[in-house]
Amino acid sequence: MDFSIPKKTQDLLDKVRNFVDEEAIPIEHDFLNSEFGEILPRLNEKRQRVKELGMWLPQIEKDWGGMGLSLVEHGLVSAELGRCPIGHYLFNCQAPDAGNMEILIQFGTPDQQERFLKPLLAGETRSCFSMTEPEFPGSNPVWMNTTAVKDGNDYVINGHKWFTSAADGAAFAVVMTVTDPDGPTHARASQILVPLDTPGVERVCNTSIMGHRGEEWHSHSEMRYHDVRVPKGNLLGEEGAGFEIAQERLGPGRIHHCMRWLGICERSFDLLCDYAAKREVAPGKKLGDNQFIQGFVAESRAEIDSARLMVLHAAWSIQEIGAKESRDQVSLIKFHVANVLMRVLDRALQAHGGLGMTDDTPIAYWFRNERAGRIYDGPDEVHKLVVAKRILKRYGIKVRSGGD
Ligand SMILES: Cc1cc2nc3c(=O)[nH]c(=O)nc-3n(C[C@H](O)[C@H](O)[C@H](O)COP(=O)(O)OP(=O)(O)OC[C@H]3O[C@@H](n4cnc5c(N)ncnc54)[C@H](O)[C@@H]3O)c2cc1C
Repeated sequence: MDFSIPKKTQDLLDKVRNFVDEEAIPIEHDFLNSEFGEILPRLNEKRQRVKELGMWLPQIEKDWGGMGLSLVEHGLVSAELGRCPIGHYLFNCQAPDAGNMEILIQFGTPDQQERFLKPLLAGETRSCFSMTEPEFPGSNPVWMNTTAVKDGNDYVINGHKWFTSAADGAAFAVVMTVTDPDGPTHARASQILVPLDTPGVERVCNTSIMGHRGEEWHSHSEMRYHDVRVPKGNLLGEEGAGFEIAQERLGPGRIHHCMRWLGICERSFDLLCDYAAKREVAPGKKLGDNQFIQGFVAESRAEIDSARLMVLHAAWSIQEIGAKESRDQVSLIKFHVANVLMRVLDRALQAHGGLGMTDDTPIAYWFRNERAGRIYDGPDEVHKLVVAKRILKRYGIKVRSGGD
C-alpha cells in the first residue's frame, strides 16, 4: 500500500487549492449572503477562468473535454473543492450535473449526446435528476408511481416528483419512470430525458429547505408531469434499465459526495483551530487553552483522517475491482462519512459561539445543507441494513428482508 500522492497529482492539487483560496473563498461571503441569481455573473467569470487554467471538468474523460482524472485523483480534487461551498460549481463537477454527464457519456445515443450532453459539458446548460416522489418512499425506489406509456413514436409521462434538485433554470430532467408495471421488480423503470420546456412539465415550486427556498442551481423543486410527450428517442439506455443506470451513477457519485464532505471537514477543522488560537475567553486565555476545545480538535482530526483513508480505499477498490464488488465499502463510507461530517461541523459551530450561527463563516450554511447527506443517495439506516446483512450472511445468518 502506497500512502504517497504522485508528484503530478500533488501539483494539480496545489493548483486547485490555490484557485479555491485565491478566487473562490474571497467571494464566498457574498454567495452565503445573497441569492444565487445575484452572484451568478461573478460565478460565470470564475468558471471561465477555470477553463483557461485547464481545470474544467476534472471528472470527465479527455475525449469529452475533461481532465481525464481517475476516481481516486478526482476524489482528491473533490476534497480540495469541497473546502468552499461553490468549489464544485466553478469546476462544472457539481451534483446533479456530474452524474448526468456520466450516464449520458455511458448510455446516451450520439443524438442525445449532441443535444443534451455537449451543452452541459460546456457549462451552457444545467440539468436535474427527477426520481423521488412525495407519496412513495425514496428509500425503496422500485416502488414509484410515475408512468411513461408508449403512444406512436412517443412516451407520454404522468407523475409527481419532489426534491428534483437544481430543476429551477435547468434545460432538462432525467426522469425515472415506470415503463413496464408488470415486469420484474428491477426492470420496471426507465430513465427518460425530458426538456423542461416540454408542454405539461410543471415546476410547482422550490421546496423550502431549512428555512430557505433557494433558486437556480441552489434549489430543490416539486415537479408535476401532466401528459408530457417526448419522442421514444429520449429513452436513455434500454427500456427497463432505469435502476441499472441509477446504480452506475451512484457508485462513483457516493465517492464524490464523501470526498466533498471531507473537504468541508478540513475547512471546518481549520476554522475551528484558527478560532481556538485567536479567540480570547478571558484576558490572556485563548479558547484553545480550554481542554473541551482540545478534545474537539483531537476527536475531529482522528475522525477526518480515518474517514479519508476509508473513502480513498473505496475509490481505489472501485477502480481496481469495480463498483459491484466494492458495494460494502461504498455503503460503509456513505453513512460513516456523513456522520463524521455532522460531528465535525457541530464542534466547529459550537466553538464559534454566536458567530457559528451567522453566515459570516460557511459553517452554518453547511450545517443546514449537509444534514441531508444522511438522507439522500440512501439513508443511513438502509446502508447499515444492507451492509450488515451481507456481513452476517458470511457468518451463516440469513437476515430476513425488513430486518427486525
Ligand atoms: C437535499 C436533498 C436533495 C435531494 N435531491 C434529489 C434529487 O436531485 N433527485 C431525486 O430524485 N431525489 C432527491 N432527493 C430525495 C432523496 O433521494 C430521498 O429523500 C431519499 O431517497 C429518502 O427518501 P424519502 O425522503 O422518501 O424517505 P423515506 O423513504 O420515506 O424514508 C424515511 C426515513 O425512514 C428511514 N428508513 C427508510 N427505509 C428504512 C429501512 N428499510 N429500515 C430502517 N429505516 C428506514 C430512514 O431514516 C429514512 O430517512 C433529495 C433529498 C434531499 C434531502
